[in-house]
Amino acid sequence: MNDIKITKIAKSRVSDFDFDNMPPFGHAFTEHMFVADYIDGEWKNFEIKPLQNLSLHPANLTLHYGQTIFEGMKAFFTNDNEPILYRPLDHAKRFNRSAHRMSMPEIPVDLFIDAIKALVKLEINWIPKAVGSALYIRPLMIAMDDVVGVKPSKTYKFIVLTLPSGPYYNRALSLKASMNYVRAVKGGIGEAKTAGNYGASLYPFNLAKEMGYDQLMWLDAKEHKYVQEIGTMNIFFVIGDTVVTPMLDGAVLHGITRNSIITLLKDKGYKVEERLLSIDELMDAYDKGELKEVFGAGTAAIVAKINKLDINGKIMEFDSDSFEIADYAKNYINDVRKGVIEDKYGWIEKI
Ligand SMILES: *Cc1c(COP(=O)(O)O)cnc(C)c1O
Repeated sequence: MNDIKITKIAKSRVSDFDFDNMPPFGHAFTEHMFVADYIDGEWKNFEIKPLQNLSLHPANLTLHYGQTIFEGMKAFFTNDNEPILYRPLDHAKRFNRSAHRMSMPEIPVDLFIDAIKALVKLEINWIPKAVGSALYIRPLMIAMDDVVGVKPSKTYKFIVLTLPSGPYYNRALSLKASMNYVRAVKGGIGEAKTAGNYGASLYPFNLAKEMGYDQLMWLDAKEHKYVQEIGTMNIFFVIGDTVVTPMLDGAVLHGITRNSIITLLKDKGYKVEERLLSIDELMDAYDKGELKEVFGAGTAAIVAKINKLDINGKIMEFDSDSFEIADYAKNYINDVRKGVIEDKYGWIEKI
């Protein structure tokens, strides 16, 4: 266990927080944060303290050149009132893969997990109890050098924030294939959870929103033909009796929910393929009546069903209420988290 200095706020206001009427996701924070500094080539000053602003020099390297990465994960209560984390080791490893790509220092996996456990333990009363709710955990690393110049920072901060999050509103989503704008290119930063990917998506996303769509379906940058992912989720299709998801080709984010779904569906006996999947194949399968389910996969929603997909003006509609595989996957992951079925892959970790 890493040694963490803890400074608590004078008086918690958690008892005043209305868990039945939470603000929209992202707006409410708990009362403490974890912070560590990377100085002289090592991580030090492990500290949990009251949530507070950072002080940054205007030349802070993150602000100018985007050397920053993050993660998104959740803590829950099982049905037996045991607080747990979902696949924390996999989140730690992905954080370090993102760090590597962005020329940032890795964080020892035990420090990543100890920091999160210590913070969640302190904020235990902030974990919402309602079904589908969770404490969202946002680990973040930013560059701290104040030097104008395109080179890796020598100093960094690792921060963990926690946010109570209500049940994800699970209506089906409409998608539009992005024919002109791309999210990621092989050799680029698509595999990293780094700010630039999200900043770059805002403009095309707004265009799609103005046209009435909920999310964009990203295609490959070279031919604008092969499916990558949607918004900030990976994507699955059921074509005939086969579950197909785009392969991890260097531009697709390595989703942990994606991995969970592939694992549990294969185990159930479904045929699952990770491969190139073109929009032509999708339109063809739809015309033949073989495109049965489309759903996104990510930590926020677990599974987000798609009821409409627009590819180049061809509108395809789906009866998302009849999706069986999407429901199976979602219920399975929920049941593992609630502790009502055996955790045979070791996905949950007690806090
Ligand atoms: C985080 C993220 C995902 C989903 O990853 P999970 O580990 O399943 O939450 C998918 N795509 C993008 C672009 C993401 O940022």
